[in-house]
Amino acid sequence: MAGSDYFYHPLENIEDIDIFYDAVERSHLTKALSAERPYTYWTIELYDKRNGIRGGGGLGVLAADTRRIADKMQVPFVLITPFYPSETHQVLKNGTIEDIHENVDYHKYGFSFVDNIFIRCCSTLCKLDVIEKRFGSSRIVAITEPNFGELYSGLSSSDHRLYQEVALGFGGYSALKLLGLKPAIMQLNEVATFFGALARLDELTSNGMDFYEAVVYTRKHTLYTNHTLVQAAEAEFTYEQFERFVFPNLRSAAVQKWLSDKFEHGRIKLSSATIEIAELKSGVSKLHARVANYHDVSGNKVKFKAITNGIDLDTWVSPSLMEFYHDYAILDDINLPTKNYLQKLSALSADSIRQYKAIGRGILNDVLKNRPDQNGDILQFTNDDFIFDFKRRFVDYKRPELPFRDAERLRSILEPRGAHYILAGRLHTGDMSMSVKLKQILDIISSDDYLKNHVHYLADYDENLAFGLSCGSNVAINVPIVGLEACGTSWMKDVANLNLLISTHDGGVADARMSDYFNVNGPDEDSELDMLYQQMQDTIAVWENDFDLEFMVRRQLGAFLPIISGARMMNDYLDYLFPK
Ligand SMILES: *Cc1c(COP(=O)(O)O)cnc(C)c1O
Repeated sequence: MAGSDYFYHPLENIEDIDIFYDAVERSHLTKALSAERPYTYWTIELYDKRNGIRGGGGLGVLAADTRRIADKMQVPFVLITPFYPSETHQVLKNGTIEDIHENVDYHKYGFSFVDNIFIRCCSTLCKLDVIEKRFGSSRIVAITEPNFGELYSGLSSSDHRLYQEVALGFGGYSALKLLGLKPAIMQLNEVATFFGALARLDELTSNGMDFYEAVVYTRKHTLYTNHTLVQAAEAEFTYEQFERFVFPNLRSAAVQKWLSDKFEHGRIKLSSATIEIAELKSGVSKLHARVANYHDVSGNKVKFKAITNGIDLDTWVSPSLMEFYHDYAILDDINLPTKNYLQKLSALSADSIRQYKAIGRGILNDVLKNRPDQNGDILQFTNDDFIFDFKRRFVDYKRPELPFRDAERLRSILEPRGAHYILAGRLHTGDMSMSVKLKQILDIISSDDYLKNHVHYLADYDENLAFGLSCGSNVAINVPIVGLEACGTSWMKDVANLNLLISTHDGGVADARMSDYFNVNGPDEDSELDMLYQQMQDTIAVWENDFDLEFMVRRQLGAFLPIISGARMMNDYLDYLFPK
């Protein structure tokens, strides 16, 4: 097999591109998007275990939800992502998290093999499998090979990460052509997907389009969605790494020159090139879009359009509660809040809230059947039990340890009600400081004879646990350091499932007002902690009082349902991409 013949599948030619360009410029959605010209969504992480792909956190959950929502709204949509042949699970052993690796076979998840494509890495040709799975109006196109490795394995500036990103970008672009698909729009879910847009720029240029025209064309059809607040924190690759992994895949000398200019002192941040290749740029909440601190090569601050994340309510809300939302015309058939959803929310009485919680508790108990806590106990809760939960990735800025700073006070809040506190969170492999923090929390818990049996740590946090806890808890705690959460989506699952939300005013929560939920704020961490404890006390009281419970649950839903609705998010994206 001669490499270069298989290297690019030359399906697009310049005349096609012109016709295509016209259609999109007409800004008419029905003409711009079709099965052959889909909305394409590029992501290095997808969290969609039902389809065989396990992610790491919110970025992947968002990608999976976005595809499901597009499908419901019948938007022609193709999600391009790696299929990782191995995934990590975590177990707790003697107070320390250990990683366990499991192989995953795509055949078992309904993917079919399409063909092989090739990319060049380190002077050799790498053979990649293109696989796909089709749904209604959407499909997942995945790139894989037996040694592709795991999601986020190794350092973010390592050769292997760069290989994965290049394989997704160049491989994914070839895969689309193999399938006869022309991206009407390329949404880049974070900069790890930059190489998809680069492959397009390179193809246009090497097919004879003037370089500047090709840049304009690529820019007009590329949306870069940023989830990271600080550009400085982004990983860098070296020129030498690009010589081995990236440049060999480029056919246009002009594109290589353009890319080379983005290096500073021999290093590149992918965001600096992504910003230039994408005219459309979005942040994932109002606050995030405002505070994300990015600059282009000329030093100008980058403006991000705020499109707050939403969730696929059918995935995350207990089915009986979804039935209620539909029966009472609170949500329409694509799960958008109806015009008068606010009035309709008055159908939600304290009795019905307790009833749906009881159903949700059954769902939680089901999930917990094979998830022992740190003592090895299998937890099963009654409808009368009271549950606080903190469930999110175990990273510093989310402050999982905050409620444990004053163990006596925590106990004094929980004990009179016999309340439980469930802590679930995935530790990033190799994060030693968080590993130490977890051990400290577990020590605090085990040295108190009440907390020992009422605070539960559940390892290997995943979608099932997220769903079970959202359905079955009473109160969710979300206390990121203000300014550091881009959006967050776990709290959305909680609000939609009628839990009371205790939160700092950060991420997507700050799209609403502080009075719409149980807000935590203060000039310093001590005052925040004091307020957190007060709010925990208050939420226990609210669950005891029918009037207060109705009032607060309706208030939360009233404020947040339009924000939470994934259909709202998709409409916002479509309006931004195809202005009327
Ligand atoms: C919803 C969800 C997330 C998102 O968490 P945030 O901290 O709110 O961003 C992460 N992981 C899993 C498994 C989830 O279900």
